[in-house]
Amino acid sequence: MPTIGEKLEQVRQRIRNAEREYTRIPGSVQLLAVSKTMPPEAVREAFDAGQTRFGENYLQDAAPRMRALAGAAVEWHFIGPLQSNKTRAVAERFDWVHSIDRLKIARRLSEQRPAGRPPLQVCLQVNISTEATKAGVDPSELADLAPAVAGLPGLCLRGLMCLPAPAAEFDAQRQPFRRLRELQEALCSRGLNLDTLSMGMSADLEAAIAEGATIVRVGTDIFGPRA
Ligand SMILES: *Cc1c(COP(=O)(O)O)cnc(C)c1O
Repeated sequence: MPTIGEKLEQVRQRIRNAEREYTRIPGSVQLLAVSKTMPPEAVREAFDAGQTRFGENYLQDAAPRMRALAGAAVEWHFIGPLQSNKTRAVAERFDWVHSIDRLKIARRLSEQRPAGRPPLQVCLQVNISTEATKAGVDPSELADLAPAVAGLPGLCLRGLMCLPAPAAEFDAQRQPFRRLRELQEALCSRGLNLDTLSMGMSADLEAAIAEGATIVRVGTDIFGPRA
C-alpha cells in the first residue's frame, strides 16, 4: 500500500505531466487536497509531505483536522454546500470558499469576515451540467451575481468553480471545463479581474488542466476511498 506521501507525489507528477502536455506554465496548477471525512492523522501526514492546502465540505466534520493542524501554515478551503446558519463559522475559520452560489450567502460571509483578516478568497460555483446536481448558480445568472459579489468588501472574488457530472471519456470530461473557462473569459471581458478556475478531481484532473484549471481538488487519489 503506497503511503499518503507517495500518493501525493503521484498526483503532483500527474499535474506536472498535464501542465507539460497542454502547454500550461509549469507550476500554474495548484493542488487542493480534499481531506473531508479523513482521520486527523491523514492531514498531518499530507502536511509533513509538503501539502499546505486542504479542502473541506462540512463544517463539523472539518473541526478535528483543523485542530490537528492548528497554528501550521496551511490554507483551508471550504468547498461544500453552504447554508446561512454556517456562514459565520466559515467566514471565521476558512481562507477560501469555492461554493458560493447566492448573493445572500456572499453578503453574510462578507459581513461576518473578522476585521483584521484578509478578505475571504471566493469562487462562484456554477451549475454547469444541470442534470447532475442543483448546486451552483445557473450560467445565465453569472453576469449579475459576479459583479455583485466582487463589490463586497469582505470578499475577494477570484473565479469560478464547477463539479460536473462524471464522464468516462476524456473529450466528454473536457466539455464542461471548457464551458466554465468560457464563462470566466466572458466575465473578464466585462472587466472583472478573475484568475482562478477551480475544476478537476481525482478522475478528471488532466481534462481540467487541459481546459485551464488553476486549482484541482483531489481527495480519493491522495487519501484513498471515503467510507
Ligand atoms: C469530494 C470532493 C472532491 C474530491 O473528489 P475526489 O473524486 O475524491 O478526488 C472535489 N471537489 C468537491 C466539491 C468534492 O466534494
